[in-house]
Amino acid sequence: MENYLKCKICNSSLLRFISFGKMPAANAYLKKEELNNPYFKEFFYDMEVGFCESCKMVQLVNIVPYDKYIIPDETGKRNYAFFSSTSKSMESHFLDVAKGIEFRFLNYNDKVLEIGSNDGIFLKNFKNNRVLGVEPSENVAELAINQNIETITEFFSQELAKKILLRKGKFKVIFSANVTLNIIDIHDFIKGVNLLLENDGVFITEDPYLIDILETNAYDQIYDEHIWYFSLTSLTNLFSMHNLEIFDALKEDVHGGSMKVYVCKKGVYEKTERLKKYLEEEKQKCIHLINPYLEFTKKVEENKNKFINLIKNLKNEGNKIVGYAAASKGTIVQNYCNLDSNLINYISDSTPYKQGLYTPGKHIPIVSPDKFHNEVYNNIDNNVDYAIIFAWNHAKEIIEKEQEFLKRGGKFIVHLPEPRIIGIENLQINNKLKLNDEKIQEMHTDIIKTKQHSDTTQSSELIEGVEIKQLKIFANDQGYLFETLRNDDKIYGNEFGQVLVSEIYPGVIKGFHLHEKHDEYTVCVKGNIKYIAVKEYADGRKKINTFVIGEKNPVLIKVPRGVWHGYMTLENKSATLVYLMSRPYNPKDPDTKEKDVFAFGDLWTVRHG
Ligand SMILES: [Zn+2]
Repeated sequence: MENYLKCKICNSSLLRFISFGKMPAANAYLKKEELNNPYFKEFFYDMEVGFCESCKMVQLVNIVPYDKYIIPDETGKRNYAFFSSTSKSMESHFLDVAKGIEFRFLNYNDKVLEIGSNDGIFLKNFKNNRVLGVEPSENVAELAINQNIETITEFFSQELAKKILLRKGKFKVIFSANVTLNIIDIHDFIKGVNLLLENDGVFITEDPYLIDILETNAYDQIYDEHIWYFSLTSLTNLFSMHNLEIFDALKEDVHGGSMKVYVCKKGVYEKTERLKKYLEEEKQKCIHLINPYLEFTKKVEENKNKFINLIKNLKNEGNKIVGYAAASKGTIVQNYCNLDSNLINYISDSTPYKQGLYTPGKHIPIVSPDKFHNEVYNNIDNNVDYAIIFAWNHAKEIIEKEQEFLKRGGKFIVHLPEPRIIGIENLQINNKLKLNDEKIQEMHTDIIKTKQHSDTTQSSELIEGVEIKQLKIFANDQGYLFETLRNDDKIYGNEFGQVLVSEIYPGVIKGFHLHEKHDEYTVCVKGNIKYIAVKEYADGRKKINTFVIGEKNPVLIKVPRGVWHGYMTLENKSATLVYLMSRPYNPKDPDTKEKDVFAFGDLWTVRHG
């Protein structure tokens, strides 16, 4: 192994700013036979990170060769333990990304290449384009190939790019997620990308974002496979060495904070305002100077000490502690904080490949979630008291899934950005509202904020059967689009009647009406409206939900049969509504009851303060 003292991008000298000591390869899980074999020697290296004052690239000082973590099995197959599609949130993330790219850059039949295509989680979303994947790990590539996604099982390089060029020609879009930061010979990699890019082609790379790592103390993003820690500043310098330039960038809320970077041949696309804003932010945060990195080191050491104390104290009190999800992040935390199987009984993980193996360095056994659930649900004597969520960036998704554990008195521990314990008392949410949808939660708060009326109560809870779907807008310089209702949406009741468009003039209040035989799904596509739903109960109680929807809050509202609803334009301009009725309009049976606008009091006046 070489110990680089020079920047691997520009050959200037590198300033080391953090050292983690001896670390194993984060994904080199061990078999029982290996642990029992006295001649087996586990691989360790000095994990240190440096900053180049010249090109600004943050990078690992010592490089671990790929064969330490992509390990050939008995048959010589290269295997890797991360399957993208096992994570639900990643599945929907890549669907959104693919749709955004298709809308913005692709015409019918244009070609898309993905480098590091994993199990096809991204490429499978392109129905109108020719796709090709490159994935060196044969066990995951197989899953893509089984879905008819053409996949080359090799490492991407300039050499491979030349072969692809001969066979397939150039590509309109080249995409990679969490790959570029792993590439040891990054100049060779970029040369290969450049070779395969059409003149107006776009290379999109999405990787963890340095600023997020620094601001969330996310030292567990640092491990042997992550060689580079990108800022837009350092990437700008890197791409310019290859006659390429970044023209757009977008922050994504995955992997604890990522940046999606859009790259083209110099001068082909105009730089977006959004990109300029991000670059300005980096400048203000002094990302080009050593100071923020030294500050990070200090905070990481503090975090480590707090976390170790927390775990040791809980253990001394006699608690049983396990881990939830065996990820590379966890390997770093376990080794850096010296957490072994004396402190953590086991780690539960849903990936079958990992079950039965041991974590690198600290050798904590990895078990199926069945063991964890069995202990939780069957109240086995030695029940689990605490579960550490090592994949802390998925904490919300995990907590939502494991509410039963919390209800039975279990608690989760999350170590970043600050160590904290999460118990049932921290979950003051309405069951109907999804924990992982902050936008809906914000709206929920808005509903509570609306003033109360003498004879009715503004409810903080949604009326039974009233449901909302947050809509995602894909915008670019040509325009924008968004989906409204899909037949695979959970809120869709599988009944189609007709779709209507209606325009409401400024100042109009459309009074309350109620349908007994059909549901309504409403979207406000132009302007903004105040939408009110009222449920009257037999005992005289009423429940009222108020929403503000439209351009400023793109949501679809489902109002079931039996709920009064009405709406009013806001901002003194007209509004356009598109709505679906689950039953076609029949003039002989209009299925509509009406009530006066003020039948439930004045819910309409916009109050100040
Ligand atoms: Zn450099």
